[in-house]
Formats: sequence, structure tokens, C-alpha cells
Amino acid sequence: MNENLHELKTRLAEISDLRAASSLAHWDQATYMPAGGVEARGRQISTLNRLAHEKFIEPRVGKLLESLRELEQSTPFEDDTTSLIRVTRREWEKAVRVPAAFEAKMSDHFAQIYQAWTIARPKNDFASVAPLLEKTLDLSRELASFFPHQHIADPLIDFSDEAMTVGVLRPLFTELKNQLVPLVEAIAKKPETDQSCLRRKYLKGEQIAFANTLATHIGYDWNRGRNDMTHHPFMTKFSLGDVRITNRAQENDISDALFGTLHETGHALYEQGINPAFESTPLANGTSSGVHESQSRLWENLVGRSRGFWEIFFPQIQAAFPEQLKIVSLDEYYRAINKVERSLVRTDADEVTYNLHVMIRFELEVQMLKGALSIKDLPDAWRAMYREYLGIEPHDDSCGVLQDVHWFAGTIGGAFQGYTLGNILSAQFYNCALQSNPQIASDLSRGEYSSLLGWLRENIYQHGAKFTAPELIERVTGGPLSIAPYMEYLNGKYSALYGL
Ligand code: ZN
Repeated sequence: MNENLHELKTRLAEISDLRAASSLAHWDQATYMPAGGVEARGRQISTLNRLAHEKFIEPRVGKLLESLRELEQSTPFEDDTTSLIRVTRREWEKAVRVPAAFEAKMSDHFAQIYQAWTIARPKNDFASVAPLLEKTLDLSRELASFFPHQHIADPLIDFSDEAMTVGVLRPLFTELKNQLVPLVEAIAKKPETDQSCLRRKYLKGEQIAFANTLATHIGYDWNRGRNDMTHHPFMTKFSLGDVRITNRAQENDISDALFGTLHETGHALYEQGINPAFESTPLANGTSSGVHESQSRLWENLVGRSRGFWEIFFPQIQAAFPEQLKIVSLDEYYRAINKVERSLVRTDADEVTYNLHVMIRFELEVQMLKGALSIKDLPDAWRAMYREYLGIEPHDDSCGVLQDVHWFAGTIGGAFQGYTLGNILSAQFYNCALQSNPQIASDLSRGEYSSLLGWLRENIYQHGAKFTAPELIERVTGGPLSIAPYMEYLNGKYSALYGL
């Protein structure tokens, strides 16, 4: 192998080791660490992240990348080595634009505002965090200013959804909103769905045991994973041989454990499906937050909330929880897990209203960054948008502008669009899978998920971060990002459910 390529890979592997150690420290903090460890753990994680960052931006890495330009240009675009050099160069060019002192200032500020937010949220006290949020906005704009851009939000979006811009997303989201609002209004006129069968007493341990069997059925590899309890579920990875999920359960609501597990399993199936040859390189990741979310949503919603899925598993869940479910029909259960409701909290939202919550936040971010909305006017703007999008508004800020951690632990900008991109893409990819292999639909109806998983691995998962989301969408579907399959899915499913 080319000597410089070998040196680059060795350096990237060391950086990947430091990042994995940081992720492991975070996973431990979120699962088993005693409360007394919190301060030291914060320092340990930030030390590991700083070392990884410093190693990555060393000028030697730039020199190595430069020396590999010829090799990159002489091999095809989709070649693994070419892709590794291309993707690493893009990440390196981004990383070196941000001064180290600015990085440090930003991470100190995020720690400070996060701490303040944990106190302000339960007290419904927006005023106490407003000055800190002003500073977050200034820092977000300054961060964006280090990068060339058309719209000031573009560089921030690009961090998590590379190559996506306000110019692409705004018209797409407007179109989506115009189709979703009337659908939500039509459903709101129908009688309320009874969800009481999900809200009976279910023992937590039994919920998790059942949820784990679902993860097994859809293909989660327990040899390369595990599932542990936490407060805010997430998926994390320390290597392609160790891709973990986390989960929570509520004794009076089984849906959290079931659909939370399917969601995180979807993220994990993506990571477990990455080409093992990419281990310890920047290619051994999902390609963007939108594509990642498309896989959690595909397994959670398109598969996991479908009638076909529960035709297989309803008799099993009924047998596992006879007292709670013996007099419930499949139909009642299916309606309950797909109840649409206009609510104030994004994380509790159903498939139909969810994107409205996301698009409100996206639009507010864009306006704040542009200077068209000030922090002091943010709570009012939040309420006005909830009225416009969902026809309801929060009575206080703790279930309004203070509800999500994102603006209180990171930049304003780039934090939310991935959720809606994921929903849109989940249907676009799923459609494509069903169309290109008719066997998949008949397998799904028999509770056989390996052909769908195989198709996703072949077309999406194995590539890791080799292609950007727009490149991947084009390769997989033969066209650009489109909301049509998603709206067709929602309209079809919810018209039948609500008799529209
Ligand atoms: Zn997710």
C-alpha cells in the first residue's frame, strides 16, 4: 500500500480510538455511572474529544491528504480508497477552519447554558436563560461565518446533513406543511382514538424482554450489541463489532419501550450493516443525520407501526401480557399505536404531527440566524407558530420553547432538519425497496424481515459515509429527495385509519 495512505489510515485509527473511548465514557454516564462521577466524567469526555480534534487538525494530516490527490483522481469516485480520501479531506477542511480557542469557548458556553437550562425548564423560567441563549446565537453565527455560505444557516445544517441547504429545505418543508396541516385538521374532526390498552400496568422488565424479541426478529445482531436502560434513549457505537442501543420503560405505557427499542434498533441496523473494511475510518459511520433517522423511522414506523407487523406479533404480545390485552382486538391495538393527536411536545408526537413540530423549530432557527427574530421575542414567535401549524399553543415555556435540549446544549441552527428529512426519506427508501424486489412485500407479510434488511444493507448500510445524502438518494432512488412517497404513505394509512 502507498506509504502515505498507510500513515493516514494509522492516524485516523488512533483518532477513531479516542472518539470511541469518549463515546464509551458517555454511554457509561448515561447508563450505569453513579451520580458522584458526573463532574470528572464531563472533564474526561472533553479531554478525549479535544485530543481527537487536535490529532485530526495536525498539518501533517493535510500534507498526507495533499500527497494523495493524484491517487484520488486516478481511481473511480465510488472506489473505497478514493472515497476515504475524499470524505476525510472534506472533514479535515471543515475542522481546520474553526480556531481551537473558539472551539473551547463554545464548549464552555454550552456546558454553562445546559446547566442553566436544567434549572430553568422545570421552573418555567425563560428569562434566566435568555441572555445565555443570546450568546449561543452570537456563537452560532460566528461559527457559520468561518465557512463560505449562501445562507447563514447553511454551514450549521451542513455539519449534520452535508450538502443540504436552506435553499433546498425551505421549499420542501413548505410543501410538506401545506399538505400536512389539512390532513391533521381532517383527523382532528374525527372521534378520538382510545389508547387505554397501551396505558395499563405493564411490568418494566417484561416490556423490555418483549421489545428485545422484536429487535431480534428484525435482525439486530446481539453478538455485536446490547440494550441497556437510560433516561433519553440513544444508539451508540464503539466499533462495528459493538453497536449498542439504550431504552426506557414506563409502567403505565408500553409504547415507549416498544417503539423506542424499534427506533434505536433501526439506527443500530444501519451501523451494524456498514462494510467491515471501513472500521476505524471516517467511512464507518452513517452518512448524515437525515439518512440515519430515515432508518430508525423506517423500522419504527413503516414496519413497526404497520398492520402487517402486528398481524404477526399481536398474538405474541397478547400471550406475553394476557391480563392487559386479552379482550383487545388487533384492530383496536393497531388504532391505539397510531393515534394522531395535536400535542405540544415534539417527542410525544405521532407520525402525522411530528414534522410540524420539527418545521416550526427549523423556521425559528433560520429566522434567528438571519437576524429576523430576537431571543426576547422567541417565546411569542413559538406560540404564534404553534397556532399556525397545529392550532394549539403552550400555556407556558417549559412545554414551549424550553422543551428541547438542542438550543440549550449546542448551536442554534442545524439541530432539527434531520428529523424531518429522515421521515421523508424513510418512505422514499422503503418504496424503492418494495418496488425493486417484489419478494420483500410477501416476506414482510410472513414476518420475515431478512430480505428487506438485505436490500437496505446492499443499497444503503454497507456504504457507510462513502456518499453524501444527496449522492446516496440519487444512487438508490434514481432521483432527488422527494416528499411524494411520504405523503402517499401518510395519506393512505391515515385515510383508512380515520375514514377520511
Ligand atoms: Zn433517532
